[in-house]
Amino acid sequence: MTEEEKDEFRKVLQIEITKTEQQIEELKELTKPIPPENSLGRITRMDALNNKSVAEASLRRSKRKMGKLTLSLTKLDDPDFGKCSICDNKIAVQRLMFLPESTHCVRCAGRH
Ligand SMILES: [Zn+2]
Repeated sequence: MTEEEKDEFRKVLQIEITKTEQQIEELKELTKPIPPENSLGRITRMDALNNKSVAEASLRRSKRKMGKLTLSLTKLDDPDFGKCSICDNKIAVQRLMFLPESTHCVRCAGRH
């Protein structure tokens, strides 16, 4: 990665981190405890529980993504930065710009 690409990627990471932070906040709202059955209809409560588990799964994903993004930001200046964690080949810069949390190259990502 050239210095310019690094600068560009740092911006991409920061934007993505801000977006993910907002997502996490929204998802936290959606995963709050659901009021007891008597305050909602039975069906509504089942829907609410369903939506809550979907939101919980998204929240876990977003938190994992957040971890990867912040880690990338701290490792940006490492000589090894941008290498695939499986095959050690360079991850294409375009891929990183598009999916800043990627830690695998296209080929390895396709296999997992
Ligand atoms: Zn790879």
